[in-house]
Amino acid sequence: MMRLSQMLFVTLREEPAEAEIPSHKLLVRAGFIRRIGSGIYSYLPLMWRVLQKVSQIVREEMNATGAQECLLPQLQPSELWKESGRWDTYTKAEGIMFSLVDRQQRELGLGPTHEEVITTVAKEMIQSYRQLPVHLYQIQTKFRDEIRPRFGLMRGREFIMKDGYSFHTDEESLKKTYQDMDQAYRNILTRCGLAFRPVEADSGAIGGSGSQEFMVLAEAGEDEVLYTDDGIYAANLEKAVSLPINAEVSPFITYEKRATPHSDTIEKLAKFLGCSPTIIVKNVLYEAIYDNGLTVLVLVNIRGDQDVNEVKLQNELVKLAPTYQANTVLSLKVPDGIAIQKWANSPLNCGYIAPNLSDDLISQNKEQSPLTPLDKGGYYPRFLRLADATVKDLTNFVTGANQSGFHVVGANWGTDFTLPTVVDVRKAAAGDRSLHDSSQLLQSARGIEVGHIFQLGTKYSQAMGATFINEQGEELPFVMGCYGIGVSRLAQSAVEQSYDKDGIIWPVAIAPYHAMVIIPNTSDSEQVKVAEQLYQDLNKAGIETLLDDRNERAGVKFKDADLVGIPFRIVTGRSLKDGKVELVKRANKESQDIAISEVVSTLKHLIIGN
Ligand code: ATP
Ligand code: MG
Repeated sequence: MMRLSQMLFVTLREEPAEAEIPSHKLLVRAGFIRRIGSGIYSYLPLMWRVLQKVSQIVREEMNATGAQECLLPQLQPSELWKESGRWDTYTKAEGIMFSLVDRQQRELGLGPTHEEVITTVAKEMIQSYRQLPVHLYQIQTKFRDEIRPRFGLMRGREFIMKDGYSFHTDEESLKKTYQDMDQAYRNILTRCGLAFRPVEADSGAIGGSGSQEFMVLAEAGEDEVLYTDDGIYAANLEKAVSLPINAEVSPFITYEKRATPHSDTIEKLAKFLGCSPTIIVKNVLYEAIYDNGLTVLVLVNIRGDQDVNEVKLQNELVKLAPTYQANTVLSLKVPDGIAIQKWANSPLNCGYIAPNLSDDLISQNKEQSPLTPLDKGGYYPRFLRLADATVKDLTNFVTGANQSGFHVVGANWGTDFTLPTVVDVRKAAAGDRSLHDSSQLLQSARGIEVGHIFQLGTKYSQAMGATFINEQGEELPFVMGCYGIGVSRLAQSAVEQSYDKDGIIWPVAIAPYHAMVIIPNTSDSEQVKVAEQLYQDLNKAGIETLLDDRNERAGVKFKDADLVGIPFRIVTGRSLKDGKVELVKRANKESQDIAISEVVSTLKHLIIGN
């Protein structure tokens, strides 16, 4: 129960300058959240109620699968992260983890995620297959030093997450829990009243046999989702695969070098030569920095009309890390002129390079032999050459001539150039044909990633020596899964999906209150009396109800009620003389007069029906 006259209730007429997207503006204006620092927010009483409701739905659905709730420490000793091999990446390279040194000079991190902690617990407490499978989860504040905190709770540096971790004897058992989680997440999002789409997701370098993200569909989403109308395929753009359009037949039948002035982009080149971009081999240069300090120059060949998917490329480079005596890739970017000067011993016009760009170009070549102890900032003396699958079957193609102002036409793999290792690093796009049915074209939508479920496999258990004894008496690493859902992000994305020009429209299941009783005129004793009684009765009946008993003009109260978005509003106004009150549905502003005696039962019906 709560009276607005006694509540910390402050609404803003003005749009907050800090906010870019509707849900962020509305949550600040309606007094749900206040910014304290970059990516740091106070959850005020109304928001806290929403977050608790979301948490409760999450909890119920998790418990229904047999998962058990616990609470793990946020202060995490560095030793754990050193065991898993993530300390340096998380504190330095990616820098996503806040870390500190305590008064005893011990290093600690503030938990951005809990694989290390939970794996340690399992390692110490689970010895036998008889104790498996087991699934623990928690709902807790996470800390991440995001590079670009933004959009309020969408990308905070301190936010609430439900994270769960399951331990299994084998993949089959893991898959079962993974399926259960898929269903649990669908249930959670449906109950929260959200329109969402589960999509195939990039599992990054971790590998594992699969991962799926749950996308709340909204224009403000940071992710792009590609899907087919038949409902069979949906994937994050980072992961998506498709069939590109067919390449045209090249008109160039003999290999020759041609002057192609001012043609340093595919568009200009295709125009100059009067050919299709689909017969051009584009050569894109990247600089990859591995975690041992080594920089590797990567030359990717891809069809002229296609683009490189840098997530896929990064994954390929991580797979190759052992070749460079490294574990992972810290950064991947297209080098600019200044960056190129650092390693190239002659000027390089990237618009004219060919797949056989000479390794001699890398000036350090003379000084550094491969994989001798490498100085920080050293360059690997040879290009890493990768061909995207789109160039593999091209014949008589056009590509650079390694000379500014010149290209070659009529080129072929085998005779003119060596085909490098073929990989899939192509970015799928809306309009591409789908792989499962080429009559289905990929559609694009924007989404907010609210959940991610992941088959981890043995990555952490192996690294941290977390093992059990199986039925045959063999010692094996746990097979693991992990499942995250962003509670605070989810709550805000509900607003992003449901608002109008006047304010928030909360889905009933996660609204901070179900109903709000408004007294238009607090000096009218009849209005006050009826409102007070309804306020008591409704709350007694389990309908969470606010009372707007402030000494404000009716117009102000109605505006605030619209802004705050409580699903049902009861107004003790004009119709009181007929023994009635006005019931207004926030979602569609539909209003009806109902008998005072029917308010409780009507609202009960409406709320349960939702
Ligand atoms: P993103 O790609 O958006 O950074 P992530 O892949 O890092 O997300 P996970 O590590 O899988 O996310 O975390 C699980 C869930 O926690 C995400 O699906 C998301 O809902 C939420 N989440 C992650 N980072 C943040 C953040 N900075 N602020 C709020 N919620 C977050
Ligand atoms: Mg992240």
